[in-house]
Amino acid sequence: MFISVYLWLHFVQFMQTKNLASLGRIFGIVVRITAPIRRWTGSTGGRAPYRHPQRQLRRLMRLERPARATGKKIVVIVGGGFAGLNAAKQLANAPGVHVILVDQRNHHLFQPLLYQVATAGLNPADIAVPIRAQFRHVPNIDIHLGRVEGVNLQQRVVFGGELEIGYDYLVLACGARHSYFGHTEWEDFAPGLKTLEQATEIRRRILSAFELAENEIDPDRQKAFLTFVVVGAGPTGVELAGAIADISRTAMRGDFRRIDPAQARVVLVEAGPRVLAFFSELLSERAKRDLVELGVEVWTGSQVERIDADGVTIGSQKLLAHSVFWAAGVEAARLRIQPPVETDRAGRIKVTGDFSVPGQPNVFVVGDMASFEIAPGKLLPGLAPAAIQGGRYAAAMILRDIDHQPRTLFSYRDKGQMATIGKSRAIAEKGRLALTGRAASRGSGSCATELMRRVGGQEENASAEPAVSGRSARNWHAA
Ligand SMILES: Cc1cc2nc3c(=O)[nH]c(=O)nc-3n(C[C@H](O)[C@H](O)[C@H](O)COP(=O)(O)OP(=O)(O)OC[C@H]3O[C@@H](n4cnc5c(N)ncnc54)[C@H](O)[C@@H]3O)c2cc1C
Repeated sequence: MFISVYLWLHFVQFMQTKNLASLGRIFGIVVRITAPIRRWTGSTGGRAPYRHPQRQLRRLMRLERPARATGKKIVVIVGGGFAGLNAAKQLANAPGVHVILVDQRNHHLFQPLLYQVATAGLNPADIAVPIRAQFRHVPNIDIHLGRVEGVNLQQRVVFGGELEIGYDYLVLACGARHSYFGHTEWEDFAPGLKTLEQATEIRRRILSAFELAENEIDPDRQKAFLTFVVVGAGPTGVELAGAIADISRTAMRGDFRRIDPAQARVVLVEAGPRVLAFFSELLSERAKRDLVELGVEVWTGSQVERIDADGVTIGSQKLLAHSVFWAAGVEAARLRIQPPVETDRAGRIKVTGDFSVPGQPNVFVVGDMASFEIAPGKLLPGLAPAAIQGGRYAAAMILRDIDHQPRTLFSYRDKGQMATIGKSRAIAEKGRLALTGRAASRGSGSCATELMRRVGGQEENASAEPAVSGRSARNWHAA
């Protein structure tokens, strides 16, 4: 009452005298009486408030405050890939929880079909789903475009660039990136296949190599333009090499006058003794035979020593090639985490049996970023189903915590693995069941369909799966 009268008097005085000092007094008292409310909504739960080095970057901090005022638990998810997106979906509309999902890109990327974009079988929009659109009608989920650089576990804050968000629960799901085994200088000459930008760059390089070869009169240079080297014979390398061989022998047939695209040399280089080493020896041998039939040269036991603008050096041999692509090694995405957490050799964060960081039960790491032992010495594989299951499980454990229920054990449902070789061949393995040839290739289609459906928003593409490989012929010019 007294405050209202006091404010009113100063307001009347200001209106009569237009003296700014009266307005200043009104402002001062409003600031003072709202201070406890502001302190409460920006509360850090009794801990000392974290201070971002750049004060002007406090914009995002405010976004968690409305949810704090409602008493909801703030769950921050970093990464909208298979793991992060599925964690968020599990928490959608859950009472008592407000989710802030941060990703450095505005889309979820369906990585298993990246090689199709790289070889002009699909367009980028076919395999990218806007993250925001997934949660259009979900009021308890906020999406933020931003790159997280690190986490302060003591202050319970994630930060980076223009970002600073406090959390009650944190789910780290940043995935993996390429590793050039210490030779970062190779990256410019041999891009990897992890993002849409890299896929479109590979596509540009493949398609322009044929054009440059057509325009070239020097036979040696023409040969180098028509030589494609893929380093690493895991699923990505095998799929990429197979698809390049396929389009050069089918989709491009008859399109050039001075070169025969079918003469393109596709070399798949692998340091280990066999291709697709995670498959049984029998299937690995079958994959190699399929690749050779497609026209791919398979060089196993070949360690790359140097990659430069002219090509690849293997032992004493120099393979002159205009286009080299990297599919040899990955390591987990790295964040600055304070205090530091234990990681394995591939940079994955070691987690306990419930995907939480040891000693930090409210911090989960899932997907390709986590080093999770499913059996002694056996890690959860870096596959989409493992990421999906991990993301959902972490979210379910958060909900159990909030409900004061004990956490349950995680059990991995192995959905098997497969690799596509060219347009119509594949190998697939689940436990002791093995499939090859067209049957497996149909299986790979249904697996992709199932994954796409789970990601959501891609049903149209999924149902058009048989057209995916057929599209090569139509799309390859559109690079
Ligand atoms: C070419 C290729 C082919 C594959 N084929 C298959 C296959 O056939 N079958 C299969 O099961 N698996 C396949 N995989 C593996 C599968 O895609 C991964 O296991 C899966 O994507 C892992 O999911 P994730 O959520 O951990 O990471 P991702 O799906 O990689 O998602 C990570 C997300 O985190 C975001 N992010 C990263 N760092 C930051 C940061 N600092 N701040 C904010 N956001 C960040 C990224 O933008 C991304 O959206 C393939 C992978 C590749 C690259």
